[in-house]
Amino acid sequence: MRLSSVAVLGGGPGGLYAARLMKLRRPECAVTVYEQSPPSGTFGFGVGLATATQRHLEKADPVSLRAIVADAWRHEMSMSVGDVTVTLPAGDLIAIGRARLLEILRDQALAAGVEIHDGTRVSAEELDADLVIAADGVNSATRERFGAELGVRVDRHDSLYLWCGTDFALPRAVFRPEVTGHGTFVAHAYPYQRDRSTFLVETDPGTWRRAGFDATTDRTAPDQSDETALDHLSDVFADTLRGHRLIGNRTRWLRFRTVTCETWHHGNVVLLGDAAHTAHYSIGSGTKLAMESGIALVEALDAGPDLESALTAYETARRPAVEHLQDTARRSMRWWDEFPERLDLPVEQLLIAYMTRAGKVSLERLARDAPAVVAAGLARYDGGPVERLPDDVVGWVLDRPLDAGGQHWPTRAVPCGGLHESEKVTALDAGTTRESALAAFDAAERVRRTGRLVGVRVPDGLRGLAAEALAGGRVDLVELV
Ligand SMILES: Cc1cc2nc3c(=O)[nH]c(=O)nc-3n(C[C@H](O)[C@H](O)[C@H](O)COP(=O)(O)OP(=O)(O)OC[C@H]3O[C@@H](n4cnc5c(N)ncnc54)[C@H](O)[C@@H]3O)c2cc1C
Repeated sequence: MRLSSVAVLGGGPGGLYAARLMKLRRPECAVTVYEQSPPSGTFGFGVGLATATQRHLEKADPVSLRAIVADAWRHEMSMSVGDVTVTLPAGDLIAIGRARLLEILRDQALAAGVEIHDGTRVSAEELDADLVIAADGVNSATRERFGAELGVRVDRHDSLYLWCGTDFALPRAVFRPEVTGHGTFVAHAYPYQRDRSTFLVETDPGTWRRAGFDATTDRTAPDQSDETALDHLSDVFADTLRGHRLIGNRTRWLRFRTVTCETWHHGNVVLLGDAAHTAHYSIGSGTKLAMESGIALVEALDAGPDLESALTAYETARRPAVEHLQDTARRSMRWWDEFPERLDLPVEQLLIAYMTRAGKVSLERLARDAPAVVAAGLARYDGGPVERLPDDVVGWVLDRPLDAGGQHWPTRAVPCGGLHESEKVTALDAGTTRESALAAFDAAERVRRTGRLVGVRVPDGLRGLAAEALAGGRVDLVELV
């Protein structure tokens, strides 16, 4: 299909990357980006790009990926509770400052021949082009304008987060809860350049109000930072910050919004990136989603005989991956919402629970990548040292005995038909799918927190998930059926 002009509304990572790919693929097409802010007008700190994302970007455009990686900061991951820190060995996790990423993507788009109009706020309707890509972010006016046609749904979550930074590179990414007189604040922080780290803090609405942050949020103008919150949290996280303070950049408490749309296109307008779909920041995938959607869109445009069928093909190809990631993000978001209630779990086990929380990383894979971490977690699970990880780590977890509530079970995977509801034990059914099993383990964990023992009946084909739930302290017993 021929396109003589493409207008891209929004110069974030999604818009700039799609514009470059489009121009590289279709040199004859005029590709123009309209960005409302001046080139240096972006705000925010670092964003992370995981290994799989780097693979996808490499395949689509190795030149721009090389430029990104050259300026990115590699880090390992850790979790700290109290005095105990557990560290995962470095994979290929990288982070880059959002401003630097945009600079690179801009240069790359310009080098490909894209035209960029900065400081130009436009609406989709006033753009005269064969195709309009609306990459205008989470507050997309285009999505609002075509809300009815696109079947838009925006879910606002209760928890609050504050995206700030600090002026030194943390030694590694860290997840750290701090319990204060008001409640618990959790930091998700990672370094992204020699003298900067992203420092995201989240909390529940009760803690937020008790700390007086409802009032400071009201007092903070949109172009200012909530200095009171930054000051208070600099003290709360003083140990992690090693004497440095938190810095803001239009930093204020926000509630995350999950955006979904029944369709992403209407006429010649297609939504891209955060405008079309968001995924909770705890899986660090917003930039990835926006850039990968750009890859899929540009590829689909080659395939269709006309614009409507090409845009439909784009959705058919892209939607499963986006929805899968949004499901994972929802589970991750709930896991973090309930995180303060898990703080009695040893941190070694918490890290296993964290890594396997959303069903994305299996216990077997974690055992391969980080044997020492898994051995330490399993030692806490089993109540004795684990010198060497068993070859069949899943079988080993299922076969551990349990003594609890005055009862003894020779193995935590009870024989088929052996799990019964009783005075002390709640028995739940996991259903037949991965999703229903993960939901059952979520429910089991909540019941378990009331002090009851919980068992879940799980299809034998999901024994890996069952082992993760046991090792992560989400359930006491399983019955494989
Ligand atoms: C707290 C937090 C932490 C995050 N951490 C990560 C992370 O670790 N890793 C990660 O990958 N992602 C992360 N993200 C998400 C990431 O920042 C976004 O998902 C990503 O930037 C989406 O890219 P985009 O191009 O779709 O939209 P945006 O980056 O929002 O870009 C949209 C652009 O459109 C412009 N625009 C809007 N309206 C108009 C208009 N009418 N005319 C012209 N221009 C317009 C805006 O100025 C903006 O530049 C995080 C987000 C948050 C909130």
